[in-house]
Amino acid sequence: MTDFNKTILRLARKDYKCRCCHKWIKAGEHYIKEFGVCEGNWYQNKYHAKCGELVERVANYMQEPIDPGEAIELAKEHGIEV
Ligand SMILES: [Zn+2]
Repeated sequence: MTDFNKTILRLARKDYKCRCCHKWIKAGEHYIKEFGVCEGNWYQNKYHAKCGELVERVANYMQEPIDPGEAIELAKEHGIEV
């Protein structure tokens, strides 16, 4: 398997859209950058720090990769604390 992913905490130099809650990450805020390879394709996602943690918690709970845009809904469905 060549798939891998990595998450790092970074300081936003400009506004970015969060892949989880779809709200803006403001310049000067810390955000989580996730990047890696999935099925041979490079991808990159940016999240608010707390959204990135939620995505990870939900993915761990589901024991499979999830669509970050569905993390909040999945968390509610499965009673995971948001
Ligand atoms: Zn967010």
